[in-house]
Amino acid sequence: MTLFASALRRLDEVAAVVDLNPEVLERLRHPRYAVEVSIPLRRDDGSLTVFSGYRVRYEDTRGPGKGGIRFHPSVSMDEVKALAFWMTFKCAVVGIPFGGAKGGVSVDPKQLSLLELERLSRGFIRKIAPYIGPDQDVPAPDVYTNAMVMGWMMDEYSTIQGRYVPAVITGKPVALGGSEGRVDATGRGAYHCIKELESRRGWVPKRTTVAVQGFGNAGQNVARLLHRDGYRVLAVSDSRGGIYSPEGFDIPSLIQIKQETREVRAVYCRGALCDIVQAEALTNEELLELDVDILIPAALEDQITAENAPRVRARTIVEVANGPVTPEADRNLTERDILLVPDILANAGGVTVSYFEWAQNRQHLNWPLPEIHERLAATMSQAFRDVYEASESIGCDMRTAAYACALRRLNHAIEAKGTLAYFRSREA
Ligand code: NAD
Repeated sequence: MTLFASALRRLDEVAAVVDLNPEVLERLRHPRYAVEVSIPLRRDDGSLTVFSGYRVRYEDTRGPGKGGIRFHPSVSMDEVKALAFWMTFKCAVVGIPFGGAKGGVSVDPKQLSLLELERLSRGFIRKIAPYIGPDQDVPAPDVYTNAMVMGWMMDEYSTIQGRYVPAVITGKPVALGGSEGRVDATGRGAYHCIKELESRRGWVPKRTTVAVQGFGNAGQNVARLLHRDGYRVLAVSDSRGGIYSPEGFDIPSLIQIKQETREVRAVYCRGALCDIVQAEALTNEELLELDVDILIPAALEDQITAENAPRVRARTIVEVANGPVTPEADRNLTERDILLVPDILANAGGVTVSYFEWAQNRQHLNWPLPEIHERLAATMSQAFRDVYEASESIGCDMRTAAYACALRRLNHAIEAKGTLAYFRSREA
């Protein structure tokens, strides 16, 4: 089954537990726009390579499309459609006024020089410029694109328009209209979900254990904030494997050494001096099976599968990565009463601060960092409470509840434009 087909299957499953207008369901089966473009790139050696690019605006009833641009060899129209579909639900679940979108170029950016990367980024924007804009569709960074790429893209779009248009894209460098607080927004959003669970589950931080798979931007930040509150982070990993200590690690030291050496190492640092501390090496597979209270997959999709799900011993899973648990694994975890906070809620902090960036750009304002933190906390906590209450009232797992909350919002918005029943009643 393709990624998009499996995304639609999830829609059907959730539609069965929500009172949904059939016309809304039909509307949500199709993207608004799905554009494929070719981007010719003049290489540094003078030769020409043509790349395929895609932009999908899935839904825009609740606001302009919103979703990242990914540069990766496996990018395809099917994948971009599925990712745009998920963005629609992510924006709806946190209640920000955006629809869902996504884009990408099928390219291995590691094979390009920096100048080639800039030409490709600008070339892609020239091709999709008619389909994006602050009121149409607002891109952002995703896998293998970053703030610098967003800056080039905003500059190219502004050149095409003949005016400065910072709100066309988010995740820009702060010096080019980016927002304070965007860098750690995804980890911070997941942290707020965990804080909401804290009282409900009776967690006492110093007795609550955590394992984090994927010690990159999102994983480091959620680990840092939990450690600050006294949680014991027993294990972290990156693509090369991980480390485990039953005592828990000093997370700021681990972040410091990771930034300096790009490696996950068991250390305790005072200033620039880092001492090795005792720890066991473990694989990523072993990390997922640790006996901890909270497991945070923050690396890649498809990490917990039908094969290893029965061995997962964590009582709570918080999906910071997109799609780390397969649908088959989901069933196993639900049957075993493992509480799972789904990706469309747990990692929505990033798109929430992107919305703040867009709002600031449109008003020519710069909100101070404490204001960003306060607004993010309010948005994430409210979304968490809505989903938690829906899971209790429907009697379902939190993933189904998150989709149900999002679907209700989408249903209201799409119905408000008129449905068969509305038009028939007018004729009568
Ligand atoms: P990142 O590139 O900063 O970090 C990813 C980390 O995962 C790296 O440390 C890498 O070494 C590690 N990793 C790669 N393969 C691994 C493997 N097999 N096992 C363990 N670790 C592995 O990326 P990020 O921005 O932190 O994103 C991580 C996940 O969070 C992705 O799924 C991404 O889609 C999702 N996400 C990120 C954001 C955001 O704003 N950064 C927003 C929403 C969702």
